[in-house]
Amino acid sequence: DDKSNSWEARAAAHTLYGFTDLPTVAARGTVVLTGGHGPYVTDVHGRDYLDANSGLWNMVAGFDPPGLIAAAQEAYGRFPGYHAFFGRMSDRTVELSEKLIAVSPFADGRVFYTNSGSEANDTLVKMLWFLNAQEGRPERRKILTRVNGYHGVTVVSASMTGKPYNSVFGLPLPGFVHLTCPHYWREGKEGESEAAFTARMAAELEEVIAREGAETIAAFVAEPVMGAGGVIPPSEGYFEAVLPILRKHGIAVISDEVICGLGRTGRAWGCETYGFVPDAIISSKALTAGLFPMGAVILGPELADRLHRASEAVEEFPHGFTASGHPVGCAIALKAIETILEGADGAPPLIDGVHRLTPGFEAGLARLAEHPHIGEWRGKGLMGALEAVQDKATKTPFPGHLSVSERIANACTDAGLICRPLGQAVVLCPPFILTEAQMDEMFGKLERALETVFAEVA
Ligand code: PLP
Repeated sequence: DDKSNSWEARAAAHTLYGFTDLPTVAARGTVVLTGGHGPYVTDVHGRDYLDANSGLWNMVAGFDPPGLIAAAQEAYGRFPGYHAFFGRMSDRTVELSEKLIAVSPFADGRVFYTNSGSEANDTLVKMLWFLNAQEGRPERRKILTRVNGYHGVTVVSASMTGKPYNSVFGLPLPGFVHLTCPHYWREGKEGESEAAFTARMAAELEEVIAREGAETIAAFVAEPVMGAGGVIPPSEGYFEAVLPILRKHGIAVISDEVICGLGRTGRAWGCETYGFVPDAIISSKALTAGLFPMGAVILGPELADRLHRASEAVEEFPHGFTASGHPVGCAIALKAIETILEGADGAPPLIDGVHRLTPGFEAGLARLAEHPHIGEWRGKGLMGALEAVQDKATKTPFPGHLSVSERIANACTDAGLICRPLGQAVVLCPPFILTEAQMDEMFGKLERALETVFAEVA
C-alpha cells in the first residue's frame, strides 16, 4: 500500500481544514470519509465511526435520512437554484418563512436567509447598525456577548465570539464587548452560592452598560447553552436576572440558536427551554439537518417592523447573499422542521428521541463524572460535556500542550467513536436518532478511552 498516494496523504497535501492543528494531524493522519449510515460515518477503508458530535452539531437526523434525501432530490429536480433579491424568491422560500415564524416563539416576524450561522450573525449586526442609524441613533452599535460564546468566524461573528484565539487576527473589532462566562463551576468564587454568582453576573452587566453607555449598545447576543465554548448551560436564574436589565436599557436580546435550535435542548428553541422570548433568533445547522448550508435571521415583530420602515426610508436594505433563500435549501429546511418537530412520513418527530434519550444521556455523563479526573459533567437535552481535571478538589486542569481532552478524543477515534475536545472538556452531541444500544456503545467507548488516557497521564 503506497502511503504517499493514500487518501490521508492526499488530503493533507492539498486541503486546509478548519480549526486543525495541522502538524499534529499530519503526524496522526487524517480521517477521510465516504459517507455514513444512521449516526455512523464510514472512512475510505470501510471503517465505521459513531459520530457523537453529529458532524458539527448539525446532522441531527444522522447521515442517511431517507425522507430528507428524497426531499432534496425532488427539490433539485424542480427548481435547482434561485436567489431572494429584487422582490423575487422561490415559493419554497415563502413557505419556509411562514413555517419558521409559526414554530418560533414570535406571533409575527420576518426571516432573512444566509449560507451559514456566521453570516446570520453578521447579517443581524448589520441590520441593527442599519436600523439604528436610520432611526437617528447611529451611535447605538456596540454588541455584548460572553467569554466562551461562539458566534462564528467572519469578521463580525468572530468579534462576537469570546475566545482568545481570535487575537491572532487582531480581533475583536472595537465595540464588541465580552461579559464573564456564566459558568458557575469554573467562574464561581470560593464559598459563593450559585444564586450569588448569578447576581454577580447581573451586576457586572449593569456595570458594563454604565461604563459603555446604554445609548451605544445595540444588542446582547447569547447562546442559551454555549456550544463550542464547551457545552456550558447558564448558571441557575441567569437569563431571568440579565433580561430585565437589558430590557430596561432598550438593548435588543438575540438568541443564537445555531446549535440549540430545533430540538437539541428538548424544546424547539433553547430560549423556550430557558423561558424567555428574544427579539430575534439566529438559526442554522439543524435548520437543514446538515443537508444544506443555510442560516436564518428570524426577526420578531418589533425588529421586523423597524427594519421594514428603515428600508423603506432608503429604498432598500443593501445586503443579501447569492444563495439567500435557495429553493433547495428551503425545501430541505421545510422537511427538516417537519421531521424534527412534527414527524414526517408516518414517523414520530425526532425531538421525541431527544426526550427519550436525555435521561440515559445525563445518567451516562453523571456516571463517567464519578471518575477522579472528571471535574464536572454538564449538559442540557442532548448536548453534554465532561471536564477533565488533574485535581478534582482544586479543579486544576492538566498541564501540557496536547490537552488531555484531545488525547481522549484521539483514543475514541481509534476505537471508532468521534467526540470533540473543547478546551479541557470532551463534548458529546449525538444525532437525535440514536438508539439506546448506540448510546451504550458511545459511553462504553468513551469510558475505555478515559481510563486509558488517565492511566497514562495521572
Ligand atoms: N453560532 C453558533 C452558536 C455556532 O455554534 C456556530 C457554529 O458552530 C455559528 C454561530 C457559526 O455557524 P457557521 O459555522 O455555520 O458559520
